Amino acid sequence: SHPAPGEPMEIITAVRGFKDILPGETERWQFVEETARKIFSDFGFKEIRVPVLEKTELFRRSIGETTDIVEKEMYTFEDRGGESLTLRPEATASVMRAFLEHSLHGGDSVSKLFTFGPMFRRERPQKGRYRQFHQINVELLGSADPLVDAEVIHMLMLFLERVHLKNVSLEINSLGCPGCRPAFRKVLGQFLSQKEKDLCEDCRRRLGTNPLRVFDCKVEGCRAAVSSAPLLIDYICAGCAGHFREVQEGLKVLETGFSLNPRMVRGLDYYTKTTFEVTTKALGAQNAVAGGGRYDRLVKDLGGPEVPGIGFAAGVERLISLLPEGMEGVSRSPDLYVAALGPEAKKIAFRLCNGIRRQGFLAETDYSGRSLKSQMKRSDRLGAGYTLLIGENEIREGKALLRNMKDGSQGSIGLEGAEAQLLSLLKAR
Ligand code: ATP
Ligand code: MG
Repeated sequence: SHPAPGEPMEIITAVRGFKDILPGETERWQFVEETARKIFSDFGFKEIRVPVLEKTELFRRSIGETTDIVEKEMYTFEDRGGESLTLRPEATASVMRAFLEHSLHGGDSVSKLFTFGPMFRRERPQKGRYRQFHQINVELLGSADPLVDAEVIHMLMLFLERVHLKNVSLEINSLGCPGCRPAFRKVLGQFLSQKEKDLCEDCRRRLGTNPLRVFDCKVEGCRAAVSSAPLLIDYICAGCAGHFREVQEGLKVLETGFSLNPRMVRGLDYYTKTTFEVTTKALGAQNAVAGGGRYDRLVKDLGGPEVPGIGFAAGVERLISLLPEGMEGVSRSPDLYVAALGPEAKKIAFRLCNGIRRQGFLAETDYSGRSLKSQMKRSDRLGAGYTLLIGENEIREGKALLRNMKDGSQGSIGLEGAEAQLLSLLKAR
C-alpha cells in the first residue's frame, strides 16, 4: 500500500528464509568454492551448470512422492502457460536430466560432474536452515565399482579437511537394492504397524507405502519406535553386502575414518546400496554438513539407460558457519588511493586509477569532492598501500605527494609519467 503523502516509503525486505550474502562473507564463499574446484578437478570432475527451475514431474519422479521434500517442502507453482514448475530442492535430479538430455553417457563411459548453486525448500527457517540455501554437488555416473564409492567419499572428506573443518564424523550405511529392499520393507512394515499409535501422522500415512521413511523422521515418538526396529543392513543380499564390505575396505586403504550407522536412510528415495552423511557436533540440531549415496536406478527411472551413479551434496551455509575464526577471507585493500581535489585533479585521478587497474592493481579514488583530509581518512580506513595526494598546489607545481601508508614515509612524484612510476613501485611491493 502507498504511504500517505509526506510519509516515508517503507523499504522492501527479502523473503523470509532467503538470505543475502554480503561482502565480508563472500570471501569465505569464494574460498570454499575455490577449494572445491581445485580438489574436484584433481579427481577428474568437471563443472556443469543447470537451471534452478525444472518441471515438477522431474522431482516427483526422482526424489519420491512420499518424501518430506516432495510432500511439503517444494516451491511449486503454475507458470502463466499452466505448466507446473518447481524451484529445485536439490541438484541431482537436474544433473541427471541434463545428462540424459545431452546424451552425456554417449561419450566417455564415466562422467564426473560437479555443480554449485542455490536450492529451495520451504522449511521452517532457523539457524542453519533456510529456504534458499546453497549446495556443492558432486555426481559420478557410469561406474558401479565399490572403490568409486570410497573414492567419492574420500574426496568429500578431503574437501572438508582442506576448508579446515574440524570435529566432523562420517557415517555410512547400505540401503540395499531393489532385489533385497522389498523383503525388508515388509518386515519393517509389520514391526512398525504394532507401534502405529506412537508414530506421527506423516509416518502413519507412509507405513503402507514407504515405511523406511520412519527412520528419517525427527519426531521423538518415531525415533523411539525405530530404536528397536529390525535393520536393513541385516537383510541386504549377498551382492549388496559384498559391495558394502569393499567400500569399507577402500575407505580403510585411503585412511578415511568412518562409523556404521544402520539407521541412516537419508531423505531421498533414489538411493541404493551405499549412503553416507557427515555431521558435526558444533551445529546443534542442524548437524548435517553433507550427505550422499549411490543411485543405481535413478537414470533408468528417469527414462534413460541403465547407468549407475553416486554423489553427494554439501550444505555451504553450514560449512561456512563452521570455518574457524581467522579463516574469513581478507577482503582486498587498494594498492593505491588517489585523493584528488578540484576539477583538474579529478581528471588526473580518473585517468590514473583506470590505467593502474588495467595493470591488475586495485586503485581507488573519490569523486565526491570532499576535503583532502577526509579522503586521506578514507584511504586509511580502506587499508590502502599508498596514497597519492593531488590538490590545487600540486596541480600548479606539476607534482603530487605520495605517501607510503605502512611506514608513513612520503615524497613527491611528477604528474608527468606518474602512472609508470607508480606501477613500478606497486610491482616492487
Ligand atoms: P537435514 O536433515 O538437516 O534437513 P537433509 O538430509 O534434508 O538435511 P540433504 O537433502 O542431504 O539434507 O542436503 C545436503 C546438505 O544440504 C545437508 O547436509 C545440509 O548441510 C544442507 N541443507 C539441507 N537443507 C538445508 C536448509 N534448509 N538450509 C541450509 N542447509 C540445508
Ligand atoms: Mg531436510
